[in-house]
Amino acid sequence: MSALRIGICGGGVGGLAAAIALGRKGHAVTVFEQTPLFKRVGADVNLTPNAVRALDGLAGNVAVSLRDAAARPTHRISRTWDTGEITSMLEMAEAAETRYGAPQLTIHRADLLAALQAEVPASVMRMGVRVTGIEEHGAGGGIVLSGGGVERFDVVIGADGIHSVVRAALLGPDQPEFTGLVSFRAVVPRASLDLPHLDAFTKWWGPTPDMQIVTFPLNRGQETFIFATTAQDDWREESWTLPGDVEELRHVYRDFHPEARALLAACTEVTKSALYVRQPLPFWSRGAVGLLGDACHPMVPFMAQGACMAIEDAVVLARALASVLEGVAPAGVPQALRAYEAARKPRTTRVQEGSRGNEWLKQGGNADWVYGYDAWGVALG
Ligand SMILES: Cc1cc2nc3c(=O)[nH]c(=O)nc-3n(C[C@H](O)[C@H](O)[C@H](O)COP(=O)(O)OP(=O)(O)OC[C@H]3O[C@@H](n4cnc5c(N)ncnc54)[C@H](O)[C@@H]3O)c2cc1C
Repeated sequence: MSALRIGICGGGVGGLAAAIALGRKGHAVTVFEQTPLFKRVGADVNLTPNAVRALDGLAGNVAVSLRDAAARPTHRISRTWDTGEITSMLEMAEAAETRYGAPQLTIHRADLLAALQAEVPASVMRMGVRVTGIEEHGAGGGIVLSGGGVERFDVVIGADGIHSVVRAALLGPDQPEFTGLVSFRAVVPRASLDLPHLDAFTKWWGPTPDMQIVTFPLNRGQETFIFATTAQDDWREESWTLPGDVEELRHVYRDFHPEARALLAACTEVTKSALYVRQPLPFWSRGAVGLLGDACHPMVPFMAQGACMAIEDAVVLARALASVLEGVAPAGVPQALRAYEAARKPRTTRVQEGSRGNEWLKQGGNADWVYGYDAWGVALG
């Protein structure tokens, strides 16, 4: 069989990683991304060793670019909201590299996108093009573009994020459930803080499960990222870019340990987003149309695995579709997409549910099942 023509809807973290992995397997890839130009929006991406190992396997200059831009947390620490007591401390940098073959890296989302986009030939990217729907054919699929045109491919991948158009086309309207929580995100210069543990990934566990502050280094340690949640019923906007109120954030955390309050005192602006949960989907593909990343397993951020799962998906998808070229999957693309889903879904469902439970590494524990996963080696049915 000759190379597959693959259309990817969405050029975010998962879409770009898939474009690289599929391109390197010999497929002809086109990425449709609605944003005309990636701006420095969003903030953090936490790449635990499972994701770094998957990215390193993409080869090219990915590993070097990531390490140039990222920070490398020394530890993963859990602390108690009022006393500041450390309830668990996991070594991450060299220890993770030895144990899992890759370190943890924390990186601005824009730097991760830049590192990935640099590996995708410009001819592959169709920037500023919005997908409005898909058409399913006996063999292959069509991507409907906002201008009204339809482009046909052997495989269509929906990597179009949390509000996926491709998911809606396959499974009908989204059914998100509001958690009652809102999240705040901020990035502050490291120099504005005089606190211990700024080189670590630290989670402050609040008096109730709705309250937590997570902080870690970004931009080679020159910046500190801050994430916090609180219960709030009257804010329902799910967005990465809407501004929030810094004073409101400080007020919510006024009884926290002074070191936690000092983090919030340094924030000059924050974004605010409602948190929704979605149930695992009944299926991720139909015929030659499949889903990847947040489009098929959106999760609340309490295990910080959203981007990591999208990256793992990209690698396993490319491996599954390689079997079509190699003639291993006689029924071709639909069977390869089902093999991809079968390999991935138990894991992403477990991470979705673990994130919702929000107990990850609260009292220590073994992180191997998450951080030790090898997307390049996992068995494909
Ligand atoms: C602007 C933005 C900022 C973010 N900031 C953060 C952050 O600060 N912290 C964090 O933890 N996570 C953030 N995320 C989410 C995080 O990147 C994802 O959860 C994770 O990387 C999963 O990747 P994904 O590829 O599945 O989805 P995403 O990375 O969300 O990528 C989806 C891509 O699809 C594009 N797209 C969507 N709909 C269409 C369409 N109809 N046609 C064409 N293109 C489309 C989007 O523009 C986006 O580039 C952000 C996502 C976005 C889009």
